Amino acid sequence: RVRTRFAPSPTGFIHLGNIRSALYPWAFARSQKGDFILRIEDTDLERSTQAAVDVIIEGMAWLGLDHDEGPFYQMQRMDRYKEVLAQLQADGHVYPCYMSVAELDALRERQMANKEKPRYHGTWRPEPGKVLPPVPEGVKPVLRFKNPLDGVVAWDDKVKGHIEIRNAELDDLVIARPDGTPTYNFCVVVDDLDMRITHVIRGDDHVNNTPRQINIFRALGHDVPVYAHLPTVLNEQGEKMSKRNGAKPVTQYRDEGFLPDAMVNYLARLGWSHGDDEIFSRAQFLEWFDLDHLGRSAAQFDEAKLRWVNAQHLKAMDDGALAALVAEQLAKQGLAADERLPAIVGLFKDRCDTTVALADWARAYYGEVSPSAEDLAKHVTDAVKPAIKTLHDKLAAAEWTAAAIGAAIKETLAEHGLKMPQLAMPVRVLVMGTPQTPTVDAVLALQQRKKVLARLQNA
Ligand code: GLU
Repeated sequence: RVRTRFAPSPTGFIHLGNIRSALYPWAFARSQKGDFILRIEDTDLERSTQAAVDVIIEGMAWLGLDHDEGPFYQMQRMDRYKEVLAQLQADGHVYPCYMSVAELDALRERQMANKEKPRYHGTWRPEPGKVLPPVPEGVKPVLRFKNPLDGVVAWDDKVKGHIEIRNAELDDLVIARPDGTPTYNFCVVVDDLDMRITHVIRGDDHVNNTPRQINIFRALGHDVPVYAHLPTVLNEQGEKMSKRNGAKPVTQYRDEGFLPDAMVNYLARLGWSHGDDEIFSRAQFLEWFDLDHLGRSAAQFDEAKLRWVNAQHLKAMDDGALAALVAEQLAKQGLAADERLPAIVGLFKDRCDTTVALADWARAYYGEVSPSAEDLAKHVTDAVKPAIKTLHDKLAAAEWTAAAIGAAIKETLAEHGLKMPQLAMPVRVLVMGTPQTPTVDAVLALQQRKKVLARLQNA
């Protein structure tokens, strides 16, 4: 059974680049009828925050990236890591190293001066027949992992292809600090083992950790999972997307009126493809998703493209379902929608790319409008005011349908010798707060009569 995981570190608010590393393992688990596990890697106590955990959980829930197990928190698994550490030690895969920080620094400097790659060279590594230095007093050792000295670590990465690293290039990794706390790479292996992860799909910033993790898996007597290392997501400036250079938290897209299915669609295409298909539903994505079509090169985020994808999903959405989302946006502004909202949404959705933009239009129906002085001066001229008065009186008595409203407008035009725009523009400005709207009879028919009359009276 396929089991995948998303293992974010809550050291900042997750952005779209991070959440894409959740989307693919989620999609793979779902498409293979497997399990998806959420694990919070919170061992960096200085930088981890609850607020960042909240954004992970909320953002994933919003996007519909549901997990079958977890969230597990690494800080709550310390006892388990120590247990496995003790087992590794008992099996002779670990040894104490008493080298001080000063000695390590000196070693590194010497190696750099000789143009060598800085690496621990095994002073304290026990070997048959080797005499170890005398144990210094009062020094708490770190524990190092006995990396194999010869041979290679190799794996077939689902994205990057065959990768091979010579063990001679890997030094003996510190897997426990002097206070006994286990280090990152070790915790990840214990977790991936305990959680029976079959496919590790993660960012390629971890590709250098993989050979080390594989060696630890083997020392523990286990097979390694399949790895897929995803290329970076770049921001619009072409830099690696990060919280430090202004990437927005995922949840901000929710607040800006993006649709979860559109986000999934957009993120799916940011590093994976299915022919030329650009716009697809969640169900289609899950049916199509595979690891073989993950892209090999960095993908660049493009907000204009995201907006376009969102607009496509918005247009395709059922008016009732869309209205429910717009009603949430209105509620945030203290406005209560009613049964007219699906029709309002249907009338305006072609010109909107977010639910926030739709809510801006709906505000003219459920709240107040405030036409600009400029629009009033330009369109609501003294010359047209008598016609507005005529229309007002006709609408006060008309049947409240688009057809009857349209007829009242035509009669008014004829009586005053005006052309459609000369009357329609000022009516739009007064009733909707802007001259750019869909056809005026349809727009008015969805308004309450008393609001239309009051707004026309303002002229
Ligand atoms: N916690 C790591 C990160 O947020 C991911 C580790 C992994 O997926 O193995 O970058």
